[in-house]
Amino acid sequence: MEQRSTRKMMSITWQRELVPHAEDYIREITTRKEHMLVRQHIVDVESKECTCRIWQLTRLPCIHAVAFIGMKEHPLWHTYVHDLYFVYR
Ligand SMILES: [Zn+2]
Repeated sequence: MEQRSTRKMMSITWQRELVPHAEDYIREITTRKEHMLVRQHIVDVESKECTCRIWQLTRLPCIHAVAFIGMKEHPLWHTYVHDLYFVYR
């Protein structure tokens, strides 16, 4: 219970839509150079799944999903992140 209130107090200072961990992860993974590894796995964007299973386990898009999603003109990264990573949901 104490941990929950501590987290709540920390979240008051967060200015972004996603929690800092998710923001950092998306920033880091979208700037990696090895995006072309996507051919080795099958990404299902609708169900938020990849055959590498990282997306299902972490609820954050894996590098294969990022490579696929990144091909869109203006990817909305927060739509591919689970609600657990949002500050105000
Ligand atoms: Zn993957």
